[in-house]
Amino acid sequence: MFDRALETLQPPWLREHQWQRVQALAQAVVGANPFWTARWRAAGITSAGDLRGWDDFARLPLTTKRELVEDQDAHPLFGSNLTFPLERYVRVHQTSGTSGAPLRWLDTQASWEWWARCWGFVLAGAGVGPDDRAFFPFSFGLFVGFWAGFEGARALGALAIPGGGQDSPARLATMQALGATVLVCTPSYALHLLQVARERGIDASRLPVRVTVHAGEPGAGIPSVRARIEAGWGARAFDHGGMTEMGAYGYECEAQAGLHVNETEFIAEVIDPATGAPATEGELVLTNLGRTGSPLIRYRTGDRVRLATGPCACGRTFRRLEGGILGRLDDMLIVRGVNVFPSAIEAIVRRFPVEEFQIEVFRSGELDEVRVLVEVDGGDDGARRVQEGLRAGIGIRLDVAPVAPGSLPRFELKARRVVRR
Ligand SMILES: [Zn+2]
Repeated sequence: MFDRALETLQPPWLREHQWQRVQALAQAVVGANPFWTARWRAAGITSAGDLRGWDDFARLPLTTKRELVEDQDAHPLFGSNLTFPLERYVRVHQTSGTSGAPLRWLDTQASWEWWARCWGFVLAGAGVGPDDRAFFPFSFGLFVGFWAGFEGARALGALAIPGGGQDSPARLATMQALGATVLVCTPSYALHLLQVARERGIDASRLPVRVTVHAGEPGAGIPSVRARIEAGWGARAFDHGGMTEMGAYGYECEAQAGLHVNETEFIAEVIDPATGAPATEGELVLTNLGRTGSPLIRYRTGDRVRLATGPCACGRTFRRLEGGILGRLDDMLIVRGVNVFPSAIEAIVRRFPVEEFQIEVFRSGELDEVRVLVEVDGGDDGARRVQEGLRAGIGIRLDVAPVAPGSLPRFELKARRVVRR
């Protein structure tokens, strides 16, 4: 588990390891799992033996989230992506529904252990170990991410501290009382807790927190967001990549040179989203290898990524996604002919004394018009400085309007800062 030997496998051995896992997965799935059996039959794969090599793998159909939603609509409650009878499943979670209808996802005992193992790689990559006390300020509801992170902390031998059923001041008090050294939450919530601490005269940088690990949003991969979290908490902030339906697939190491993909548990491909051809920058396509009860094979994540080249200073051979998740392909705005990801706007806004912000998008014909609302120190002057920063950084002039402190929504889970009007 979180095995240096696995993380430093040379590429040919890694590919061989992956291939053995693919074959085991295919043997479990073909004939037993109605979803994959039907999809693969259409592609000419009727038994695991028909998958003879990576060329055959590359011919397996790509799958989209829309197809998963349609499958769950057609086969309520849980869809047809089930390898085992329902009584084998022990956990249910669902997506936040950020982009459309929520998906429900089931896990077996084995796949829940697999989640914990994958999160172990995430936490170990951030340097978390048995001496640590990891705090999870999370409501422990239907969203899987921090449940799995909690299990990962336990699997790693760290002390896992649940932060459910508490408001933010109570959570700060728990962290102080129990000496939390690790904070695991969304980047937005890490920033919000800092604000709550300030309001109560607590200097969070003097708490024993030394590492923060973030999930659920791209924020921790954005340098200006990371810098604010690190300064406020007096800690190092680590990004992580994961999806409810896929698992915790990516993590940062101490070199923080992009997100390593956990290639012993996942297969990563990058494609041109228009043609499906392999690319170094494009859409991330993932296959999980250890969630046999409800696997995803060649799944189009909708995330835009860029593959890094060259080895990582940490010694891991797992490939890296440079800059983490660059943005959601379906979030991309076209403002006066310029492609703009909301994460690019956030990267600039967070360099200024902005407590919270929102991106309003107005559609006019084929074009997007954007207004950025900011809770910023200095009112109109502050907003003007943000606007100048955006013009210098993105190359176009966006409307920036100051709003009253505390008037924009705060987020514990996935932040929804892009609002279409
Ligand atoms: Zn590394």
